[in-house]
Amino acid sequence: MSRIDPITVNVDELIAVNKYEVDEENAHIELTDEPDMEEFKKLVRVCPAALYKIADDGTTSFDYAGCLECGTCRIACEGTIVRKWEMPSPTMGVEYRFG
Ligand code: SF4
Repeated sequence: MSRIDPITVNVDELIAVNKYEVDEENAHIELTDEPDMEEFKKLVRVCPAALYKIADDGTTSFDYAGCLECGTCRIACEGTIVRKWEMPSPTMGVEYRFG
């Protein structure tokens, strides 16, 4: 009887394979100034690229570089603390590479 090896996926490794063209002139995602902490915590939990961070001292940070353009943060917090969400300009943003 043969045994099937489990398939393991390392998400960080897969994300690192992608190529990003960051539009330094135009952020495609913007948050409100002084975002509500409970709303921000939602984004920390849902962003698959872990771009929303809370430091040990409680300060929040977000960097749209590395965005996977999945739209999850838009769905979670548009109308509360996500004040702008649009697709990056043509030729900008993530370029997925598989394998
Ligand atoms: Fe994170 Fe997706 Fe929002 Fe980009 S679009 S910041 S990857 S949740």
